[in-house]
Amino acid sequence: MNTVVTADLSQFGIRELMFARLLLQAYLEHGAEFLGSGLTLNFNTSSGYVFLSDEDYNVGVLDESEEYIVQFYTCPQCGYEGTQHDAINEEKDFSAFEGYCSIECLDKNR
Ligand SMILES: [Zn+2]
Repeated sequence: MNTVVTADLSQFGIRELMFARLLLQAYLEHGAEFLGSGLTLNFNTSSGYVFLSDEDYNVGVLDESEEYIVQFYTCPQCGYEGTQHDAINEEKDFSAFEGYCSIECLDKNR
């Protein structure tokens, strides 16, 4: 099955629509300063993820509390994916290394 990311709400199932509602509620109540213009609500039909993304490919997902939107990163070097919270739990750190997951990955691109 191909990875298909859609913003077509008719493609969302019940579960995805409920998740989309939580995302929009978090965005409405708290915003997401890292998201800019061209913001869309998306569903990845392969992974099942529902997320916000802007025209610069910044991605926002719900945090563990389901109250706040946090940035979802993909390390450009190794492909490691996750939130800053995920990264810290695995002894990585996106915010310290310009979006790379570790000093090793950042160094390979300097
Ligand atoms: Zn990495």
